[in-house]
Amino acid sequence: MTQEPATVTRVEFDMEWPPGHVAMYVLDGAETILFDGGVPPERVDGASFAERSGYGLDEIDHVFLTHPHPDHIGHLRAVVAAGDPVVHAPLTASDRLRRPPEVVAERTSQTIAASGADADTQATMRDEERSIRDRIRRDFPLDAVDDWVVDDQRLTVGDRAVDAVWTPGHQADHLCYVTDVGGERVAFSGDIAIEPFRPALLNDRLDLERHRAVADYRRSLDRLDGLTIDRVYPGHGPIHEAFEATLERDRGSLERRLAGVRDVLADGPATAVDVADAVVGDHDLVYLFPEVLAALCDLVNRGVAVREDGPNGERYRLV
Ligand SMILES: [Zn+2]
Repeated sequence: MTQEPATVTRVEFDMEWPPGHVAMYVLDGAETILFDGGVPPERVDGASFAERSGYGLDEIDHVFLTHPHPDHIGHLRAVVAAGDPVVHAPLTASDRLRRPPEVVAERTSQTIAASGADADTQATMRDEERSIRDRIRRDFPLDAVDDWVVDDQRLTVGDRAVDAVWTPGHQADHLCYVTDVGGERVAFSGDIAIEPFRPALLNDRLDLERHRAVADYRRSLDRLDGLTIDRVYPGHGPIHEAFEATLERDRGSLERRLAGVRDVLADGPATAVDVADAVVGDHDLVYLFPEVLAALCDLVNRGVAVREDGPNGERYRLV
């Protein structure tokens, strides 16, 4: 298929979490496409989207969302209010976000209560879960989405083909979007294939998808390994050409995380928070707790460890 000459404009905003910025991309052509939504306009310090990108919000014809994390959906409401874009988003997010909030809150509270954390840490964890889920519900109104996208779907935008690749693990609904730009095969990769670091395994944080986060992520890396990608436009870190190297680094990092968790259990049964304390340290505990819990779930799924009631919440023991 012949493509119109196209250029990609990166629009970067500061944010409070490492690495301190998030990127969204405008791809021009017969139809103007925005990949991801960054942070909400009211949280932007300094120049607006239009000032940074050269595009008015009303000039966006299509929005493709990789995943419903607060730093990737923030401009969605503003773009929809300004114009009439076609909004594409992962179908599985629709299913997940229709779960009754009180049911999810109860389930995540039970996970936190079983974690072995002290009362203060449990309260911090509950606040974190509630705050993130509230922001996602606010910034990602389901009725703004026109096109719910499934894995392996080829979308046609004007004369452009965009292939969706389901890549869960960091987030359970995550899609990468692959297309051709300037003779190159490129991926708008959201929070996958980031050059400076491996994304955390958060899937759906402390809700049900934690049980399959590790298996999901392994499958995503296998799936991406089969693609030839010349250039990556990620949500964090620089635009880069090191697609394969980032996947290999991520695979190694994942295996080291699992080995680290297993090593802690080799010293005896431990709660999830004990394990998290040992492998990530106190400083990152609340942020990385879902990843450590996902690693423990994977050990249980594979019969390497068992989960049992202990004196201070659930504990994990190697078999
Ligand atoms: Zn994310």
